[in-house]
Amino acid sequence: MGLTKSSVGIGAVDSGLIIKKQSPNDKIIALAGNPNVGKSTVFNALTGLNQHTGNWPGKTVANAQGYCKSEKHSFVLVDIPGTYSLMAHSAEEEVARNFICFGAPDAVAVVCDATCLERNMNLVLQTLEISSNVIVCINLMDEAKRRKISIDLKKLEERLGVPVIGVTARKKKSLKSLLDTLDIACDEKRENKPFKVTYSPEIEQAIAIVEPEAKRLSKGKINSRWLSLKLLDGDSSLLCEICGCLGDDFLKNPALFAALNKAKATLEDSGINPQKLKDKTVSAVVAAAEKICDGAVRYEKKQYSGRDRRLDKLLTGKFTAYPFMLLLLGAIFWLTITGANYPSELLSRLFSLIGDKLDAFFVSINAPNWLHGALIDGVYRVLTSVIAVMLPPMAIFFPLFTLLEDSGFLPRIAYNLDRPFKRCNACGKQALTICMGFGCNAAGIVGCRIIDSPRERLLAVLTNNFIPCNGRFPMLISIIAMFFAVGTAGGLSSFISVAVLTVAIILSIGMTFLVTKLLSNTLLKGVPSSFTLELPPYRRPQIGRVIVRSIFDRTLFVLGRAASVAAPAGLIIWLLANITVSGSSLLSLCANALDPLGRLMGLDGVILFAFILGFPANEIVVPIIMMSYLSAGTIDSAYSLAEMQALFVSNGWNAVTAICFIIFTLMHWPCSTTLLTIKKETGSLKWTALSCAIPTAIGILLCMSVNFIASVFF
Ligand code: GDP
Repeated sequence: MGLTKSSVGIGAVDSGLIIKKQSPNDKIIALAGNPNVGKSTVFNALTGLNQHTGNWPGKTVANAQGYCKSEKHSFVLVDIPGTYSLMAHSAEEEVARNFICFGAPDAVAVVCDATCLERNMNLVLQTLEISSNVIVCINLMDEAKRRKISIDLKKLEERLGVPVIGVTARKKKSLKSLLDTLDIACDEKRENKPFKVTYSPEIEQAIAIVEPEAKRLSKGKINSRWLSLKLLDGDSSLLCEICGCLGDDFLKNPALFAALNKAKATLEDSGINPQKLKDKTVSAVVAAAEKICDGAVRYEKKQYSGRDRRLDKLLTGKFTAYPFMLLLLGAIFWLTITGANYPSELLSRLFSLIGDKLDAFFVSINAPNWLHGALIDGVYRVLTSVIAVMLPPMAIFFPLFTLLEDSGFLPRIAYNLDRPFKRCNACGKQALTICMGFGCNAAGIVGCRIIDSPRERLLAVLTNNFIPCNGRFPMLISIIAMFFAVGTAGGLSSFISVAVLTVAIILSIGMTFLVTKLLSNTLLKGVPSSFTLELPPYRRPQIGRVIVRSIFDRTLFVLGRAASVAAPAGLIIWLLANITVSGSSLLSLCANALDPLGRLMGLDGVILFAFILGFPANEIVVPIIMMSYLSAGTIDSAYSLAEMQALFVSNGWNAVTAICFIIFTLMHWPCSTTLLTIKKETGSLKWTALSCAIPTAIGILLCMSVNFIASVFF
């Protein structure tokens, strides 16, 4: 979870309909499916890309595309958002339906979950109504086998009239059958006779009245039976899309208009009003799904798992849910902090050794002082501090978090937090966007698309920045370790660090609730909407894959981004520290100007200036503070935590400074990437400015209050 190549846009197709072919002969394949059926796993295995996977519904909200080849064809695979139906009740359903209907895919592969096939069949049947070139790809066959569910693929194929294959997407080899079937599907000669849902006689009669006109006017661009049903249904968003595809005059056609009126009148005569029509069509699809699976899917053992039930009782129980969540959070932080200490120390020693060698080299070649200073004291020292401080905690935190995600714990957390969010008049799905925010706020904000109500989505977008992302985590960890745990023995020190970090995170989550409540009582008034959240089964995560993927796609990617900002930032800081105007460096001039406000907040001008310079990436705030203090020439070689603490203390830091620093780290303006994402998602400068102003104002006020209280009482 969090910042990955895909979360920042690589591979994402926002509008959903702009497909880039590599060659004109490429076949376009839409990958559809319910949420959490392994669609992204299939997509990644075939394309070699790395779309976000995780054991919880609703994480893919935009289309993504990738390329793959079979023996005969080359394909553009389009991973459309996971949906339970195509009746377009939500943004994802609309994106999915529009792509299948208007994206002109050569074939649609509907990925299904073998362990709950009947429910998945609803989407298959709805897809068959739109497109006849459909392949049913039943995934998770390994799980079905484990749970003693037997699936007769042949029988299903006969009944559905389209190819049906069984795969285990985690085993890449098993996807060969999908490619082979896609080859056959893309051969024009193949004639599918897809199963058609039969509706009640009154509805069938109404369809029969409209269909001839619909067929004539749509000229084969859209399935005429489905089109007739949708015209009778009168879904306004779909009618808009249909006009986009068939031209504005389509709906104004007098013959079609007359047929529609006639059909609607026959329905009314039979007592079928628009709402009844909707209910009856849904019931017919559900009944057909049941019929298709009857006898083709057999359960040889009772389907609920005792272990899953016991775990759910513990994780979502009234009295156990919150303590367990706290314990889980604490355990993750403990592993991250204790595990990161030693490699951090080791890295900083290694970098300092290399730094000494580089120093000696620059002296030996008589390099000018400015070059030596800019490259070693500037670029090298800042860059290596960022790596030494950030790499170890990230390399531990990301895989742990991904394991939690992959095993199915996140939806339980959303379930637990649903009630408090409802009390704030917000949506429980916001809990999932919070979880994403722990990885990266920009990803969390894109993830807010899973919230259907625009009001609730805005609430989630505006408050996501209260959650510390991967860039801010190492800052928190290092300051906590320096000021609250230094001097205590090993075990106790970790315990104190974990406790302080957990309190900090609870504060950030508490603030999210408070601001959400305040906003929903003022600027964004409204009632909370309800939503269905499926609690997926607990799945054993692919530990090896998770570790490799989270190191390569998250840790190194984030580190690369931080490093690419840190290197030039190091240079800029060095220049600011060394260019003097009337005897004072630019750095100290800026820091001095900010000092009065900084002092009021329990910080100082240097810290505030570092936060401002850290706007491109929070990761560089601590190194900037170090550099600024170092330009006064206090310490000059390796920066272990103890030495950093000594440096900070010699510049006036104490426990109050550390607390205010932690508060301001949690609550200040979003980084540039996040801010751009907010602008893109909300399309509004007003909301973007507000998302910046709210945490900053709260952070400043809170720091000032803590500083004031501390100065009165201590
Ligand atoms: P999506 O929501 O449909 O894109 O589903 P994902 O690709 O994110 O997969 C959901 C979960 O199912 C993840 O934890 C996957 O690791 C897991 N998964 C996917 N395919 C398989 C499979 O064939 N077997 C098993 N056991 N797990 C799978």
